[in-house]
Amino acid sequence: MTIFPHADRGPSGGAGGLGIADLPWTTAAEDGELVHRFGEALRRRRETSIGYPVNLDVDYRAFGGLLDVLWNTVGDPGPGDPFRPDRQPFERPVVRFLSRLAGGDPDRTYGYVTSGGTEGNLFGLHTGRERLPRAPLYHSAAAHHTVARAAALLRMETVAVPTRRDGSMDVRALRDACGRHAGRGAVVVATVGTTMLGAVDDLPAVRAATAPAGECHLHVDGALGALVAAFAPNPPPWGFDAGADTLAISGHKLIGAPVPCGVVLARDHLVPFPGAAGEYLGARDATLACSRNALAAVFLWYALRRLGRDGLAARAAHCLSVAAYAESRILALGRRCLRHPASLTVVFDRPAPHVCRRWHLAAEGPLAHLVAMPHVTHDTVDRFLEDLAR
Ligand SMILES: *Cc1c(COP(=O)(O)O)cnc(C)c1O
Repeated sequence: MTIFPHADRGPSGGAGGLGIADLPWTTAAEDGELVHRFGEALRRRRETSIGYPVNLDVDYRAFGGLLDVLWNTVGDPGPGDPFRPDRQPFERPVVRFLSRLAGGDPDRTYGYVTSGGTEGNLFGLHTGRERLPRAPLYHSAAAHHTVARAAALLRMETVAVPTRRDGSMDVRALRDACGRHAGRGAVVVATVGTTMLGAVDDLPAVRAATAPAGECHLHVDGALGALVAAFAPNPPPWGFDAGADTLAISGHKLIGAPVPCGVVLARDHLVPFPGAAGEYLGARDATLACSRNALAAVFLWYALRRLGRDGLAARAAHCLSVAAYAESRILALGRRCLRHPASLTVVFDRPAPHVCRRWHLAAEGPLAHLVAMPHVTHDTVDRFLEDLAR
């Protein structure tokens, strides 16, 4: 359904046009109404949006009254300073909580709230390149598409490593590839929860396979899967205690911030330009951005503070149970279905186009998947399966 059929029209387009003219031609109330109408459509999408790994079960209306101030932050997360409101205090507890969860020492882990998993990956790969300037970037063929873009921005030579049938990196192929570039070091992206199949790369095996290359920088793209893996039964190794050097997590996936954001973590002695500051800012700044979204840190802090470690574990366990339910129901229909035990991604044969459209399914070639994010309930799965079986 098109909400704004005349969106591209200007002032002459009549009601519903979103064009921007020389002078305002509508009232603020009318424009507010248009934005609200779009928000309503976003709200309705909760019912049928099961294909993408975003959490639509969010409610941050408590902060609506704070939208008359600028939420900007600059530089590394600081202790908070009431005389420098841009040095807000909420970011550090988020970074420390996730550092600990990732098996790191919070006192020796650098981190900050990013614009999303992608910025975290860019930060991690930049860190790796500064550390090992001659090393190629090894990533699996199933790595997120933005990994190749980060490599291009950083002008890193890339080596795409084939995957095994389950979608995880073929570590024997990685070892062979490292042997072909022996002695140059290796920057490797391991994915915890690949985009299409939800596969989890075997971190210790990946690290071991880079031996022929020499020194290794291991970046973990855990945008979706890290926090699921953390609480899965038999959790696969995914964090600093499994050999990660840098790690990216998205904030609008399992945690459920209402705007895109993420957190990047790094062993602090590896962080490039740790002193880069600028007297001008009066702050240490090793982040990739200058101004950053301070509200994102507030959202993450609020979500994690309300959940705590146990609440996050319970949420992950619940989502895993919904994923397992979907998997068993699809198998019961006599259809093929695949799911990594530590993943919310349930993969099946691509259904008819109208089913993909209605349920916002992500499809690739012969496959499609649903992701059992917190807004996807057993009831949602039942309604989807009625459509699928029809
Ligand atoms: C979502 C995702 C990304 C991208 O993260 P954004 O937060 O959307 O920037 C990268 N890698 C994986 C594996 C993802 O699931």
